[in-house]
Amino acid sequence: MRVSVFGATGSIGESTFDLLSRRNDIRTVALTGGRNVARLAEQAKALHAELAVTAYDDCYPALKAALAGSGIEVAAGTEALVAAAERPCDWMMSAIVGAAGLAPGFRALAQGATLALANKESLVTAGPLLMREAAQHGARILPVDSEHSAVFQALVGEDIAQVERVIITASGGPFRDWSRERLEKATLAQAMKHPNWDMGQRITIDSASLFNKALELIETREYFGFDPAQIEAVVHPQSIIHALVGFRDGALMAHLGPPDMRHAIGYALNWPRRDDLPVARLDLARIGSLSFEAPDPDRFPALRLAREVMELRGHAGTAFNAAKEVALDAFIAGQIGFLDMAALVERTIDSLLSDSGLTDPVTALETIAAMDQMARERARALAMEMV
Ligand code: NAD
Ligand code: MG
Repeated sequence: MRVSVFGATGSIGESTFDLLSRRNDIRTVALTGGRNVARLAEQAKALHAELAVTAYDDCYPALKAALAGSGIEVAAGTEALVAAAERPCDWMMSAIVGAAGLAPGFRALAQGATLALANKESLVTAGPLLMREAAQHGARILPVDSEHSAVFQALVGEDIAQVERVIITASGGPFRDWSRERLEKATLAQAMKHPNWDMGQRITIDSASLFNKALELIETREYFGFDPAQIEAVVHPQSIIHALVGFRDGALMAHLGPPDMRHAIGYALNWPRRDDLPVARLDLARIGSLSFEAPDPDRFPALRLAREVMELRGHAGTAFNAAKEVALDAFIAGQIGFLDMAALVERTIDSLLSDSGLTDPVTALETIAAMDQMARERARALAMEMV
């Protein structure tokens, strides 16, 4: 099997690298990364990749030097990155963070490759187009978010028309029991202390604000096509159950596992078979008990915003994701407070509602790109007012 990994040096990328390193039936086509060229070069050598690409032009000399004499091709820049997705491969891991992950995924689908999709922003930003692209080319998208992999697995052998509801779980993050007053002053360092999962910086902060869960509600709708009213989120601090699917006879099928993304990645890699994976086995007696609570919309408005976005449809997901990325950047830069992120996203959506074609149906990548751009500009302008 020929594989490519986009975002190979990140958290999902490293877990994918770990699984690929254990296999001897894999041919690695392309690996891509950002500024950590030393690690990208190491991975490319270890997997005997054909090509290594850094997203940044100025990183080209360093990557070239690190791979000198290896026979591995080197390229840099956004265009080279997208072109790498056109290299024939059978399986592509999409693990770039943010809307930047969208274009390579489209190219992979256009060549009929299986797209292992960790980049949830792709579905939130351009869900209908991405699913259409896959259908047109007979390509398959396999979910790599733990919740969505769990739903996918619970649906094996089932008729999706008999599904009554889907429940995805949220750990609640480090601020699960914080008051609104405390949340207002929450710092970047505090937001980075996720209780269960070890992930990249952006998704870790999104987990603390529940924006990650908000993206995942939309991701569930876009990927499986469920009605928004069928999709629920529940806080489950132990992160052992990843999702549950409820059927019309009242049965709930739950997917359990330790918080290790190698399960969802490995499932997508081995699909439709199951094979050995190096993940810890759960000791239920040791875990003792699992608990659940309803998310508090007052302290975590992101989930309410996701519901609004699902109702609005059209380009609302695009605007939501773009505004969220701007808000996250502003929080990381110390320009706005933790709760300001949700306020900024809400104001951006409200402001776009009146004049931007926000709810026009999605028909082409161009309109997605235009809305992404407009929402970022609007969010940046509104952020200035909040500073
Ligand atoms: P990360 O920040 O650890 O890694 C991101 C990767 O993308 C790195 O290789 C980086 O070099 C590259 N990258 C960043 N910006 C880029 C750009 N503009 N252009 C090209 N490459 C760029 O992120 P992560 O935690 O591995 O998350 C990756 C994706 O997977 C995200 O969409 C995230 O929501 C999703 N996801 C992650 C986890 C997890 O456990 N980490 C779980 C579920 C879903
Ligand atoms: Mg998830």
